[in-house]
Amino acid sequence: MKREKSEALFEKAKSYFPGGVNSPVRAFRSVGGTPLFIQKGKGSHIWDADGNEFIDYCGSWGPLILGHANDKVVDAIKQTVENGSSFGAPTALENELAELILKNNKYIQKLRFVSSGTEAVMSAIRLARGYTKRNKILKFEGCYHGHSDSLLVKAGSGLVTFGNTSSAGVPEGVVNDTIVVSLNNEQAVRQAFADFKNQIACVIIEPIPANNGLLLQRKEYLQFLRDICTENKTLLIFDEVINGFRVGFDGAAGYYKIQPDIITYGKIIGGGLPVGMYGASAEIMSCISPEGPVYQAGTLSGNPVAMAAGIAQLTECLKPNFYQDLEKKTQFLINTIFDSLKFQISNLKIFSIGSIFWIAFTDKEAVRTAEEVDADSMKYFRILHKELLERGVYLGPSGYEVGFVCEAHTEDDLIRTAKAFTEALEISVK
Ligand SMILES: *Cc1c(COP(=O)(O)O)cnc(C)c1O
Repeated sequence: MKREKSEALFEKAKSYFPGGVNSPVRAFRSVGGTPLFIQKGKGSHIWDADGNEFIDYCGSWGPLILGHANDKVVDAIKQTVENGSSFGAPTALENELAELILKNNKYIQKLRFVSSGTEAVMSAIRLARGYTKRNKILKFEGCYHGHSDSLLVKAGSGLVTFGNTSSAGVPEGVVNDTIVVSLNNEQAVRQAFADFKNQIACVIIEPIPANNGLLLQRKEYLQFLRDICTENKTLLIFDEVINGFRVGFDGAAGYYKIQPDIITYGKIIGGGLPVGMYGASAEIMSCISPEGPVYQAGTLSGNPVAMAAGIAQLTECLKPNFYQDLEKKTQFLINTIFDSLKFQISNLKIFSIGSIFWIAFTDKEAVRTAEEVDADSMKYFRILHKELLERGVYLGPSGYEVGFVCEAHTEDDLIRTAKAFTEALEISVK
């Protein structure tokens, strides 16, 4: 595989951007080597600067559920941008996207558009604090909620810990209000509610944690969180930025039939353009400015071009059997990989839900917590990733990241991918 052009571009990029990138995981540090610079994408395929072609399972880390440069999305963007790209005043397109979402999602009544997942979550936390008039928040080790200060925390050594920043530049005062516990642990959550009685504004969770492997939770656990939040007048926030519109149009709330108090979305909602959103009941949302005292604003919020892309993409997602077909494709890919292996790889697991999949090298039947993810096993992923690139298959460059099947993946893509996987897996575990 030729990589000269990508390597030259990366050399230049290193003089412009820290680590040569505008978001850290893109730098390929966890798989080694230099990142590929992507020149174009169409459907399920991408091409790099050296002209190498790949079947893509990164999908811009999730947003591209229809694939790259989908004709309907591209047309919507073109038609809209012809009439101006931003006004800082309301447009009908915001109503249209909101209506599309609210009509098909009974778990929220009102929403606010923002420009990223980070912003959606940051705003949701402020809303929860403003609504409950409490300061503390509880999050789970292994869930990612974007890079706002109060969520850049990691677990310490106890059952319930707080105040350990996971990034320089985050003041202790900010994270002192963030409690961190392990996933799938009822006792830790009970302990936190006992230690901080009437102080916890919200519990925030990725109901389908997909940023640190795919840590599928038990429905009973999510229901437990719902119940303990209700008992304590604490708001339950589902951060569905990655799984929203992915496991179904009404996300994890609809999948598990659990009503959270606030939901955040991002990624898919913008059709590949920057959009985030948070929503809740009309009563909770009435706390937001200018109706209520919780301030939140954005110069480019509800941007018309991004709204148009989102409308075009979500309209496709609403077509009959859209999600069933995606799930079938994903299962076909996984089954074909296992069926094609020449020898059994005993520690190979491919966990999946809907069209999200995660390749793990573990003896465990289920991996539900960050602690259960074996850092040492990432050595297999590193080889797998490199060998897949050589065979024309592009996965996100980290073993902690999940893959996504999109509408544009064809049966031929999936069969070719399974063949590449089989060969690459056999090399990676040798
Ligand atoms: C991606 C993601 C975010 C952050 O979204 P950005 O658009 O990258 O700021 C927050 N929460 C979850 C669950 C995510 O997957």
